Amino acid sequence: MPVRRKLAAFVVATAGLAAGLAVNAPARADEAAPVAVAARLSDDGDAAKLIFDLSAPVAAKARALVDPDRIVIDMPEVSFQIDPSAGRPRDRAQTIVKGFRFGLFGPGKSRVVIDLAAPACVAKVETAPIVASSAPSRLGIELKRCEPAAFAAAAARDAQSAAGAAPAAAANAAAPSADRPVIVLDPGHGGVDGGAFGVGGAVEKTLVYDYAYELQRLLEAKGRFKVLMTRHGDEFVSLDDRVRIAREAGASLLISIHADMLGGAGAYVSGATVYTCSERASDAEAARVAAHENAADKAAGVEDKTQAPGVADILFDLEKRETRAYAHLFSRGIVAELQGKTQLNNNPERSAGFVVLKAPDFPSVLVELGYLSNAKDVLAMKSPEWRTRTAGAMAEAVERFFPASRASAAPAAGVDALAASDKPAASPPIRPPAAAGPAPGAAAKP
Ligand code: ZN
Repeated sequence: MPVRRKLAAFVVATAGLAAGLAVNAPARADEAAPVAVAARLSDDGDAAKLIFDLSAPVAAKARALVDPDRIVIDMPEVSFQIDPSAGRPRDRAQTIVKGFRFGLFGPGKSRVVIDLAAPACVAKVETAPIVASSAPSRLGIELKRCEPAAFAAAAARDAQSAAGAAPAAAANAAAPSADRPVIVLDPGHGGVDGGAFGVGGAVEKTLVYDYAYELQRLLEAKGRFKVLMTRHGDEFVSLDDRVRIAREAGASLLISIHADMLGGAGAYVSGATVYTCSERASDAEAARVAAHENAADKAAGVEDKTQAPGVADILFDLEKRETRAYAHLFSRGIVAELQGKTQLNNNPERSAGFVVLKAPDFPSVLVELGYLSNAKDVLAMKSPEWRTRTAGAMAEAVERFFPASRASAAPAAGVDALAASDKPAASPPIRPPAAAGPAPGAAAKP
C-alpha cells in the first residue's frame, strides 16, 4: 500500500510552465512524489476539462489512443489520494468524456486515462500554480470535440512518436525453490487500472489485493510453500508480465484473484466462481468475464502490440492440455473447499480464454470472489472475517493439491482419474507439470 506522504515534506518548487500538449517541470527524483488531493471534471459535450489539484507541479504529456478511443496522460509518480471511483463512468447523454482513471503505471510513473464517449482532441495540458509562485499546482487537461478523422490522425501521430518507448514492468522474479512448490498469487488490476467499481464505492483492485495478501499469509503459515505476488500494493502490471513473473519464479500454481460486476438486472447475481483456461468458453457468461478481464491492459492505456512469444505460440501444446487437466482439478478442489464457507455462483466452475491463465507449464485458475454489483457480496468481500475464512479454504485446497509426502512441486497424483474424467482434460496421460521441464519458449520475454 502506498505510504501517505506528508504535504509538509514538499519543498517549494518554481517551474517555468509552458502551455501546450506537454509541460515540463524540474525532475525531483530524490524527493517524495507530489500528492493529488482532488479531481474535477467539467464537460458540456463540446469541450471538457479535467483538473487535478497537486501539492507540486508535474511534467505531463498527453496522447490519443484508439480502440477504444481514449486520451492517456503520462507523468512522473504522483500519489493519488483521491477516491478511485471519482472517475467512474457515468451514464450521461451529450458528454465527450465517459470516465477516467488514474494511478501508478510503473516504477516512478503515473498515468491518467480518459475514456472518450465522442472523438475529442487535446487542446491543452497545463500545470499552473494555484497561488502565484507556490508549489501547489493544478494540472488541467482540456479536450475539444473533433472530427473522427482528426482524432484518428492525432492518435496515429502520437503512436509514431511513442514508438519504442514501451513501459517497463516491475519485475520481482525470484529464484525457483527446489523443494517447495512456488505458489504465485495474482491480485487483478492495480495502479491506473482500478478494475470494476461496485456498490458503496467498492473498488476491485483494492479488494482483490487485500484478499491475495491474506491468502499469502495463510499459505506461508503452512510452511510448505514459497508464495509470491505478481504485484506489490497499488501498482500496474500488464497481463503478459503477470504470466512472465510467474514463469520466471518457477511457479507450480498461479491463482489470479478478481471480483466481477454486472450491470442492470444483474444486481441479484452473486457468489464466487472459479475459472480455468480454455480455447472455447464454457458459456456466454464465461466469455463475457474473460473479455472484460482481458481488457485490463487496454484500461491502463497499454498499446496493442504483437503478442509476446512464449504465451500465444504454444497455446495448443500437448503439455498445455495436461496442465489444464491439473488446473481443472485444482478448480474443483477450491469449489469443494469453499462449499458451505461462502456463497458460490449457481455454476461455480467455468472456463474461457483468459490471457493471464495461458502459461503452458503450470496450472492457473482465476477466482472471481463475488459480484461488486451485489450488495451482499460486497459486504462479504469487505469483511476481514469472510476474507480469512474463504482464503483459509483456498489455502486448504492448495495443500490438498500438493500432497505433503512429496517434497516436490508436483500436484497430487492420486487424483488422475478425476482429472481424466474431465471434458477439457481430454485423454493424454497426466504427468506432473514439474516433471515436464521447461516449455518451448519458456525463457521468452515480452
Ligand atoms: Zn478483474
